Amino acid sequence: MEPTREKLESAKALSKSTSEALSKAEQRASAARLRFDEARLELERAEADLQRVENESTAAEVQLKSAEEEHSRRLAQVRNIKSEKEREATSESRGKDRRAQPAVRDVSPLLFDDDGRRLPFSLPYIGPISISTSVVHGRGLVASRDIEAGECLFITRPVLSANVPQSRECFNRHSRCPTRYEPSYAGELEGYAEDTLLDELTCLSNILEDEELQTCENLDMARRIFGAFRAQMSSSDSAPAVHEMDVLLATGDHPVNLDTSEHYIEDEEALGIIRRNAFGPDFHNFDAIARRWTQTWPQEECFYNRILGVYPLAAMINHSCCPNAIRVFGTVPKSEIGTTVIDEECTGKDVMIVHASTKISRGEEIVWSYIPPCGPVQRRRHMLKKYGFVCECTRCAKELEVADKLIPTLETPDDQKPLIERIELALSNSGMPNECQRLLRVGYSTMYIDYFNAALRNMPNKNERGVSDLLKLATQLHFSFVQCNNACTEHISILHLCYELVSITHMNAKDGGERTKTTNLIRFWTEQLKRAHMVRYGELGHNLELVRKAMKHTQLVLRSDGGFFRVGCKFI
Ligand SMILES: [Zn+2]
Ligand SMILES: [Zn+2]
Repeated sequence: MEPTREKLESAKALSKSTSEALSKAEQRASAARLRFDEARLELERAEADLQRVENESTAAEVQLKSAEEEHSRRLAQVRNIKSEKEREATSESRGKDRRAQPAVRDVSPLLFDDDGRRLPFSLPYIGPISISTSVVHGRGLVASRDIEAGECLFITRPVLSANVPQSRECFNRHSRCPTRYEPSYAGELEGYAEDTLLDELTCLSNILEDEELQTCENLDMARRIFGAFRAQMSSSDSAPAVHEMDVLLATGDHPVNLDTSEHYIEDEEALGIIRRNAFGPDFHNFDAIARRWTQTWPQEECFYNRILGVYPLAAMINHSCCPNAIRVFGTVPKSEIGTTVIDEECTGKDVMIVHASTKISRGEEIVWSYIPPCGPVQRRRHMLKKYGFVCECTRCAKELEVADKLIPTLETPDDQKPLIERIELALSNSGMPNECQRLLRVGYSTMYIDYFNAALRNMPNKNERGVSDLLKLATQLHFSFVQCNNACTEHISILHLCYELVSITHMNAKDGGERTKTTNLIRFWTEQLKRAHMVRYGELGHNLELVRKAMKHTQLVLRSDGGFFRVGCKFI
């Protein structure tokens, strides 16, 4: 009896454990089926995404073109006949003055001073722009004809400038430890630069005041420079003076009538003039200069020598977060020293080169961003406070409508997922139009770049799936920048990254079919890189060798910090 019962018990136990195992296996099988279904869905989604991304290039271009057309139609309506007449009058008078000046197609002698080439144009250069009533604020610059992306609008030297040797001497004398970087140095450096300009301005004011200080030359110079400030500040209803461009540039043969008795200025007023008219390296990036001067920057040879310059003509340009113009700074080449273009004492002063960052229609106002254009709308508003206005451009309006949808995502820091992945998830669940998603992405582009750098750092084997995910995201970001019209440093950084990622994909390609696809993608990204550089640096004479040189230069600068495409240094 006993053994039989035992057998029965063990048989029961066996059957129980078997059925348990069976049900577990069934559970596993159904879980696996679910996972498989999910994976298949995900794959389908990914394929659809890729298709969409590849199609987006043309779609975005069509969209941009229609937006541009609508924009210029609207502008044409806004402009009244009076400003039309004024514009024609000024462009006519300027045309007579500068008929000999050819269009500037290649500014490379100002950008790359190592090849000893002469300037093929004389400074200052004034392109197809004139002064008119602004739709944004007061008076501004408008296009006097249709302008292509990358075309040069004007090139000027500063009327006053804080030279490198002076500011650097000041910096070395006052900084506590000139060889070690400290965060406070950026602010101090800006202060020294402003003080230098203030001294120059006070000197000029004294010359106007005090007959004993006057010589023919310095009185003329002081009159011209104060004349430029007066023209820049003059009210919106006054008709533009003939030769006003020359007045604003403090150049030309036209005598400047200035009542010298009323031009004594207090320090506070002088500082106001300086702050309205002074431009430094990319949005006053004094932090990068301080790092460079304390030798904590690895590749010193990449950067130009520049601190602050006063440019009254550039100060005429109004602000937009979705700009149509961009500036770069160049250096007058050494080979020009001693010629009529520049004399020895001017070396170290820096030349501002302003390009169209997109197509501009005749009559459309020239606008650029007063602040780094890549922040979210709230930060941009905060930064614009010091200029005393609230931006009402279309980007701000659109972004304000949708910005709230991201706030819950941004305010849950305890989540284990990286912020960018949470942002992307929130965007894809939001159902908001692509256009709005792009605007929001641009606002967080610095964080996207940090995310890309971290992801690449954590991916030593550069596996296919990881790389293609990053490329997809970087592609989205690229189209987002295209929508905001600025070939800003962040955009160039992302483009270099896309090129790098697609090169990895190309090397990983297994067969001829895949390789054809990746070759096409490489071609696409090379074209995008080329275009962005030709917007940022001008057409460069459509000389591919020069464009390639510019691309190599930006890659070198962006890679200088730790081997990744960072945007901390903006000297590109
Ligand atoms: Zn705006
Ligand atoms: Zn930017």
